[in-house]
Amino acid sequence: MTTSIDQFCDLHMHSTASDGTDAPEALPRLCKAAGLSGFALTDHDTTAGVAACAAAAKKLKITFVPGIELSANPDLDETGQPVGSLHLLGHHIDPDHEHLAEISKRLGRARAERNPMIIEKLNGLGVSITYDEVIELAEAGASQEGAAASAPAIVGRPHIGQVLVNKGYVKSIHEAFARYIGSNGAAYARRDLLSAAEAIEAIHAAGGLVTLAHPVHLEAADAEELEHTVARLVDLGLDGIETRHSDHTPGDVKRFERLAERFRLLTTGGSDYHGSRKSIALGSQKVPMAVCDRLTQAVRG
Ligand code: AMP
Ligand code: ZN
Ligand code: FE
Ligand code: FE
Repeated sequence: MTTSIDQFCDLHMHSTASDGTDAPEALPRLCKAAGLSGFALTDHDTTAGVAACAAAAKKLKITFVPGIELSANPDLDETGQPVGSLHLLGHHIDPDHEHLAEISKRLGRARAERNPMIIEKLNGLGVSITYDEVIELAEAGASQEGAAASAPAIVGRPHIGQVLVNKGYVKSIHEAFARYIGSNGAAYARRDLLSAAEAIEAIHAAGGLVTLAHPVHLEAADAEELEHTVARLVDLGLDGIETRHSDHTPGDVKRFERLAERFRLLTTGGSDYHGSRKSIALGSQKVPMAVCDRLTQAVRG
């Protein structure tokens, strides 16, 4: 590899195939404009955007890593007290792998059951919103100019939040989560989640590497609890930790790097860019391209 130290990558971002606002085929150009040498598309629960993104990346000669982000049940010890959220990134997955596609379908069904429950709760709180409005908004995003897909592969809470903003019920998506749809919100409804073992198995089956996304969101009470969680995940096959992320402080990055070292894990990093739906810039984490190269070597090795 001939990567120089002034080359950067962004290994975590979303497109209109999930809850981002940029079409998958638009991302390579935006990444190039942000000065990146490589990037990964990691949509929630789906690889529907990967093929279009890969083709556009090839044309622009920017390194592309096919990925996915799966949400798993954080209750690893089955205490019945799930806290925080456990998100697992899969890098270098085969986007067409049958088992992964089956898992995606199952997650889609879980969303299709949960989303109307949220709408029902909102209606009960006097908020006038229909599920059709949410689907319409998600589809409008996915079929913007130049996009290959005409329907979003997933409909998520950010889409519901956007409708609440558009209808004037809240001023921002952040407020929508705080008041209504976040885990402490009045209209929150949980969806059926994969177990961490199922998520890790699916990513491995598709030939990918599994990393723990934004560990700061695990809400581990202390360092010991976090270590316990990582140890459990390592037993299940975890390959790495996302050390750099938009929600991590410089102190977080250091402690997650130490954790990765202790468990001999790979490290990844990315912005978790969602387009205009969140105020996060592409490439803002300044992840060295060497991190991307190490992932590629690991998957080949
Ligand atoms: P869902 O997958 O439909 O349950 O929605 C999860 C999505 O909501 C993820 O993209 C999160 O990044 C986003 N999200 C979670 N909490 C918040 C929040 N407080 N503000 C904005 N977005 C959030
Ligand atoms: Zn998202
Ligand atoms: Fe996440
Ligand atoms: Fe994400």
